[in-house]
Amino acid sequence: MGRTKRVRRKRKYLDNGSSLDDDSNIIDLRKWMKKKGWRNETRLKLKEFKYTGRGVHSRVSFQPEDSLIEIPYDLMITSTVLDRSELQQFLTNKLKLQELLALFLVYERHKGAASTWKFYVDSLPMKNPEVPWLESEEAFGELPDDVMTTAKDKKWALERSWESVRRSIKFQQCPHCKEMLDCVFDADSFAWGYVMVNTRAVYVDPDIVSSLADINSLVSDDPNMALCPFLDMFNHSPEAHTRAELRFSDGNLIYRLTTLRGFQKYQQIFISYGAHDNNKLFCEYGFFLPDNRFDKIAITFGCVMDQIKMRTMQINERQFRYIKDKALCDDLSVSLCGLSFNLSALLYVVFHTDVRDWSSNIFTATYSESDVNNFVKFVLELLEMKCKRTKTFGVFGDFLTNRWNFVVRVLDFLKQSSV
Ligand SMILES: [Zn+2]
Repeated sequence: MGRTKRVRRKRKYLDNGSSLDDDSNIIDLRKWMKKKGWRNETRLKLKEFKYTGRGVHSRVSFQPEDSLIEIPYDLMITSTVLDRSELQQFLTNKLKLQELLALFLVYERHKGAASTWKFYVDSLPMKNPEVPWLESEEAFGELPDDVMTTAKDKKWALERSWESVRRSIKFQQCPHCKEMLDCVFDADSFAWGYVMVNTRAVYVDPDIVSSLADINSLVSDDPNMALCPFLDMFNHSPEAHTRAELRFSDGNLIYRLTTLRGFQKYQQIFISYGAHDNNKLFCEYGFFLPDNRFDKIAITFGCVMDQIKMRTMQINERQFRYIKDKALCDDLSVSLCGLSFNLSALLYVVFHTDVRDWSSNIFTATYSESDVNNFVKFVLELLEMKCKRTKTFGVFGDFLTNRWNFVVRVLDFLKQSSV
């Protein structure tokens, strides 16, 4: 969602920011939304905050369970809007919702003043957020393995989407400017739309949306995403807690966001995009938090197996089958809270070849002191090998510096707990 800075500082709650009341794009956006039925009962406004960039505050304070914002369904770009749009005439086949939303944004931006969504489109950044997967694959070489894997997957997903979109666009003129459609929709503009959707879309209940949709929908997958003007200006904090729902109010369908914690008036209001580590935040949204309590270092099963070989240990067929059956090769990570549940469980199986039933210890997390010590030593060795100091400059410099500092903190934590 809305942000301009990659790094967030922990002082953000104290950041008073400067008013954006004179910003013509914001004035136009609010006027347009008002005309379309937004009442802004919670008196939300935008400010430029020093540590987070553009964000939302209010002239009123909020208690837990207060509604933060209520947006009329007609102001959201959903599959309902897509199915009634001109995209219907441009495409030979159905596409995924994210692809269609991206095309919609590109086309509405292309139409400029002729677009009925002009004021929303003008509120979007022209520049892409700094997500790592828009960089070249050569640049990926600087990233740690776990981040690189996510970045590559995202890059390939974008390329696959563009390929299927490109093949679906009809060879015909744009009704707006008479240019051929393949000039209106090119790889760069599609990437912009795709990233906007990736960073700003909200989840909506697909059953409610489907019940409103036309039978011949353009959308090939679940209609579970929407773009929502103004709502996409809220910044993320892991301390925030909100509930979002599509619901009927006085006979009208609205999207309501309720805060589950309080906010003082004029203080920046945050929402949570989820309990994400910095890898996820960086890859999905292009920013990270220096003090992210959900941060962790992911470890692959392959790394664990390499370390087992390095120690000239072995696992037998029965151990391997158990590890696979219980999916103990997934969700392996270490953080400032220690080893993840699965990593401890996996190592318990690895270190106890002859135990008849591993489950009774694993699922009660009953490990002896010497077990815990062995696990920590194993992970320390693994991390010291794996996390050799990475570059802290170049295109991902800020992220890598922060990542390295986190690795050092985790190593210190493990060393202390293995004494
Ligand atoms: Zn045109």
